[in-house]
Amino acid sequence: MNLEEKIRTIKDFPKEGIEFKDITTLLKDPEAYQATIQKFVERYQDQEIDVVVGIEARGFLVGAPLALELGKSFVPARKEGKLPAEVVRAEYDLEYGSNILEIHKDALEEGQKVLIIDDLLATGGTVKATADLIQEIGGEIVELAFLLELGFLGGRDQLVDYDIYSIIIED
Ligand code: 5GP
Repeated sequence: MNLEEKIRTIKDFPKEGIEFKDITTLLKDPEAYQATIQKFVERYQDQEIDVVVGIEARGFLVGAPLALELGKSFVPARKEGKLPAEVVRAEYDLEYGSNILEIHKDALEEGQKVLIIDDLLATGGTVKATADLIQEIGGEIVELAFLLELGFLGGRDQLVDYDIYSIIIED
């Protein structure tokens, strides 16, 4: 199945000049959504992973079903002020604006193997901040996974320390 054609592009959202990749069109197609999760399952089912970390909010939509399929833990990385227990936090720049991400300090145990997943890799700031948080609380990052990577934005350049897997790469 061609997953790329299930994702639509919306011009000038959320700001003028941004071409936003809208995955809701993929999510509402059950076969496309299942094929997406299946792709990730095939890649990770034989790898040593303890925890899948999904990044708010669209990372939950791929991370949670994947964690369930793999029979592994799911941990959310959330926007500022959403998590109730003690957190570590990181501030980072976005393609448009800046943001703060948090994760519970007790989200994982020292040395656990972590897969970080999000819907989309753009400049890489979001996933880099998440990776920093995982390392701060003692996790070992196995790989960073995305449904779609905007290769022309060069996100990989600031992620050279990590293995990266993207189902679709747009150059
Ligand atoms: P980055 O930090 O790599 O610049 O941006 C990636 C983050 O912003 C991801 O959490 C992703 O969900 C969101 N994001 C940025 N641009 C887009 C886009 O065009 N479409 C979607 N679906 N998410 C985007």
